[in-house]
Amino acid sequence: MRFVRAFLDWIASFWKSSPPQTTAPDAGAPPSRAHAYRTVVQYGPVHWVNSQAEANRLLSGGAIVMVKGTSGAKWLLMNCPDHCGEVRRISLSEAIPPAWKFRAEADGTISLFPSVHLTSGCRVHFVLRHSKAYVI
Ligand SMILES: [Zn+2]
Repeated sequence: MRFVRAFLDWIASFWKSSPPQTTAPDAGAPPSRAHAYRTVVQYGPVHWVNSQAEANRLLSGGAIVMVKGTSGAKWLLMNCPDHCGEVRRISLSEAIPPAWKFRAEADGTISLFPSVHLTSGCRVHFVLRHSKAYVI
């Protein structure tokens, strides 16, 4: 249990070190909820590409793939963090609702707001912060 406690403290320190975020109410998931996450999945490098076709080969390496549209980021693609084998395709464009907001972090990672919750299929619910998916 000592190790688990240390791990949770480490997760908590991670949240505390995240920069304050004012546009989304759940920007820093509270440390007290750290125990509620079923799994944490660390994603690899973030790639920016021009088409979804380019994304497919990158996803197998555990990357987060940002697909550019004519006016900025259009899609975020990632393998589902619950390992169901599906690719999560998340709209970042207001023109394609529902759309999420993202933040390109200074360390090259990606955060996503608000959480992603599928109401069908595998019903995964996760928060993406600094390219880590916290499955709720
Ligand atoms: Zn899934």
